[in-house]
Amino acid sequence: MGEEMKAWERRIHRVSPYTPGEQPKMENIVKLNTNENPYPPAPAVQEAIRSFDVQQLRKYPDPAVAELSSAIADTYQVPKDQVFVGVGSDDVLAMSFLTFFHSEDPVLFPDITYSFYDVWAQEFEIPFETVPLKEDFTIDPLDYIPRERGGRREGPIGGIVIPNPNAPTGIDANVSAIRSIVENNPDVVVIIDEAYVDFGATSVLPMINTFDNLMVVQTFSKSRSLAGSRIGYGFGSKKLIKYLSDVKYSFNSYTMDAITMKVGVASLSDPDYFASCCQKIVATREEAKQRLRALGFHFPDSRTNFIFARHESVPAKELFTALREAGIIVRHFNQPRIDNYLRITIGTDQQMQRLYTFLEEYLQQAGWRAGD
Ligand SMILES: *Cc1c(COP(=O)(O)O)cnc(C)c1O
Repeated sequence: MGEEMKAWERRIHRVSPYTPGEQPKMENIVKLNTNENPYPPAPAVQEAIRSFDVQQLRKYPDPAVAELSSAIADTYQVPKDQVFVGVGSDDVLAMSFLTFFHSEDPVLFPDITYSFYDVWAQEFEIPFETVPLKEDFTIDPLDYIPRERGGRREGPIGGIVIPNPNAPTGIDANVSAIRSIVENNPDVVVIIDEAYVDFGATSVLPMINTFDNLMVVQTFSKSRSLAGSRIGYGFGSKKLIKYLSDVKYSFNSYTMDAITMKVGVASLSDPDYFASCCQKIVATREEAKQRLRALGFHFPDSRTNFIFARHESVPAKELFTALREAGIIVRHFNQPRIDNYLRITIGTDQQMQRLYTFLEEYLQQAGWRAGD
């Protein structure tokens, strides 16, 4: 407080950091705040770690992450030179910002979206503008399309990044909306962040064959239960991936460790397990929609592993605090437009039951009754 700024401090690149969701140390909590998967990674992952040859760690890992890239290429039926692998999709996205957004024109993304985008933009000194979502939190593609191409955007565009489905709203844009954005912005790179696409939305991956300015980013963190391993990947045209790899190699060539590469390959080796985990979460989510609606919550229709909900009479902040005291951790964003919402990650049926039971009792005590 009031401390004088040192001369060297004036030369420092200052940013406001991204605030990650809390990882509380309390025991017996129901943790529904960071969109982690409640189910364990595929059994083959455990086996890969158990049988890992520790001698491998003497050597530097493969900078090209070839084995894992090939496994991703095979899984998604995409040529290897159109795949990029990073340490979490945060790494893929950060490298993409650094590589693709290098002009004086502002990069566009929604006003309500993944809160890392503006952090990276500031970090890399990329000009950006946020585009307000519509009242119902959906994206209007015309806001991202220049006027001369029939859209509503007046000023220049330096690039576009959109999560589909969007976070924290949970809403997915339809494929034709994304297509029109990409198609009408041939002079800039468009990044579609598909962190949650495996929970029922449609990927625009096939469009990389049509549009060489499209980058599609996905992650093992949510749908493959591997947030702790840090594996993200992206798809794009050969040219796009080449530019991205060049920047990555000139930053730090060995970002992914040898164990994580094996973990990723093992995870991909069991598509049935993957599909069944995703199905379970989708089923729990659909039930959660009914249960929460009956308890007086309103929310956009989610196609992710979370629900973004507000209560019709109890303020979000109050519910957040009460839930926390009961050991149920959800996410609240102290931000314009969304500060009366809670983002609730879909857990196991048992975890969700604890949530419903608590809410039933709490709301009853608060004097809320259905239909009032
Ligand atoms: C979780 C998330 C990511 C980052 O995931 P990683 O763990 O870094 O792979 C990226 N974008 C969105 C929208 C997310 O919700």
